Amino acid sequence: MSTILRILRFTRSLTPYYLSIMAAAAVVTAAGIAVPFITGAATDTVVDAVGSVTNGSGIPDGAIRSVVLLALALLAASLVETVASNLGGYWGDVMSERMRTILSTRYFEQLLALPQRYYDSELTGTIVARLNRSIAEITGFMKSFSNMFVTMLMTTVAVLAISAWHYWPLAVLLLLAYPAYLWLTALTSRKWQRIEREKNEHVDEASGRFAEVVGQIRVVKSFARERSELDRFSDHFGETVRLTSEQSRHWHSMDALRRGVLNLIFFALYVIIFVRTVTGHFTPGEMVMLIQLMAMARQPVQNLSWVVDTAQRAAAGSRSYFEVMDLDPAAVGGAGSLPRKAEAERGGGRRGDETDPGSPHRGGADASGASGSPGAPGSAPVVAFRDVSFGYDEHGDVLSGVSFEVWQGERIAFVGESGGGKTTLINLLLGLYAVRSGTIEVAGAGPDLASLRRSIGVVFQDPSLFSGTVAENIAYGRPEATRDEIEAVARRAAVDVFASKLPSGYDTVIGERGMKLSGGQKQRIAVARAMLKDAPILVLDEATSALDTKSERLVQAGLDDLMRHRTSLIIAHRLSTIAEVDRIITLRDGRIDEVGPPDELSRSGGIYAELLALQSSSSKADRKRL
Ligand code: ADP
Ligand code: MG
Repeated sequence: MSTILRILRFTRSLTPYYLSIMAAAAVVTAAGIAVPFITGAATDTVVDAVGSVTNGSGIPDGAIRSVVLLALALLAASLVETVASNLGGYWGDVMSERMRTILSTRYFEQLLALPQRYYDSELTGTIVARLNRSIAEITGFMKSFSNMFVTMLMTTVAVLAISAWHYWPLAVLLLLAYPAYLWLTALTSRKWQRIEREKNEHVDEASGRFAEVVGQIRVVKSFARERSELDRFSDHFGETVRLTSEQSRHWHSMDALRRGVLNLIFFALYVIIFVRTVTGHFTPGEMVMLIQLMAMARQPVQNLSWVVDTAQRAAAGSRSYFEVMDLDPAAVGGAGSLPRKAEAERGGGRRGDETDPGSPHRGGADASGASGSPGAPGSAPVVAFRDVSFGYDEHGDVLSGVSFEVWQGERIAFVGESGGGKTTLINLLLGLYAVRSGTIEVAGAGPDLASLRRSIGVVFQDPSLFSGTVAENIAYGRPEATRDEIEAVARRAAVDVFASKLPSGYDTVIGERGMKLSGGQKQRIAVARAMLKDAPILVLDEATSALDTKSERLVQAGLDDLMRHRTSLIIAHRLSTIAEVDRIITLRDGRIDEVGPPDELSRSGGIYAELLALQSSSSKADRKRL
């Protein structure tokens, strides 16, 4: 219930709708309650008339006029009911659509704010399925409840008051029906809810897998796993069918019991009404009216279990809705929007424990002012990692005590074995994850992550394109770019050579995540996207790894040109592409191993020299084979 109140607060702007729907429901109910009175009065008039006709005194004066007027009153009541219920239905539709808009927009906003870490452990399809279900359950409930609540309340109060007025034991019996019904409903609700949760888990899981399979259909097909994916999918739904049948059997047997109890109570009510009419305590008209009122009272009682059910569903829906809404973007273990300095200070206690005396780079990094630091072309570093440690989870650090500085206009490359933490370094620089300890400083970036990220142009290892056109993808970091600007970077990134051959050139839609392009083509678009962003810091994470030597040379020329005017951090797959950088930093076991210019490191016998030897021998072997 408290979560439903939260939904009401959350959608406060819809209050006029709630009130209008309730007003319409009140009118509908009032018109409904008028009917037994009218038919009761008509019955008494008719019984009188029949009596006097049988006596031989003829039709009483005005009797016909009275019954026609009463029929008119019935007509009026149903007209009012028709108008009010349709108005209420219309407001209900608009209200629930607006509610869906509000709830899903706020949810999307929250998802966008959540850090990378949230997405590391959630399947896209599951996120979508959960959102859709919660919202459907919440809006469905709010719509019918705002209508039903008033109807139930008014009918109940009216029927109780009228029957108490006529003969109080009727009201007492009726009052008994409510707790009996609620109690019998409550008996079933825990089991019902447990099964409902279990069902939802199956649906969410199946949806998550579904989306993954559709997204990776090529792998599924080429490993001939269609059958087993299908089986896995239908297993989930086999379970939901089984669970639903258990849930429904349980619910309906309890419902039969509830209605049985209700029927007994109504049996007693009818006996009382009939007997009291026979004994002359009630007129026939009163009897008709009371019986109709009792029938009206039955509905709200029976609705109780429906209300409890949908309320539970909506409560479950809003719980899973708020589970995500209540996540604190800064606290989900990731860098949300906290200033990065503050985060680092939280973990600051570990500083110093993780110094790496083996790192030749440590000395330089300690000079925090760094103005007089040797080899520093500018006054302050553009990027500074100071004693940064980080791990994705509790088990072990991916990076330990990493410190380095990058100077204005410098090109710096990171080398290390696969899985050595190079991409992680980039993730930290972009603030996608919060460091465990240490600090990362980026000159010119404000305290917020958006300004930090505006100052960095990045080409990810996996090109990560959208389903739009080539041009839209290139312009993603700068949507206001002109066509000429887009085409200019496309030429520099060697996109033009293949874009011109696409069916609609730059306006070709490239499929989900760029499915319709080759790996190298995707990479070139990603490079063009980073070029167009024109940020002061350029980050390349194996940006040309999928290119053939010829295209790589083309793109490299464009990149060299781009790097000339800015600070660059480069992770390269082929060491030949970083032979020209100013400095290389090598990583070993999450720590910095060596720092120095390429020619110096190539002679030092470290990882760089090792990898260089490996690569040149394999390329020699390649050449020999040709
Ligand atoms: P590199 O780019 O040098 O090949 P990465 O930085 O991608 O290496 O990965 C470093 C380590 O961190 C690897 O052992 C990898 O398994 C782990 N890792 C990478 N991303 C995640 C993640 N999102 N969650 C948990 N572990 C991760
Ligand atoms: Mg990597």
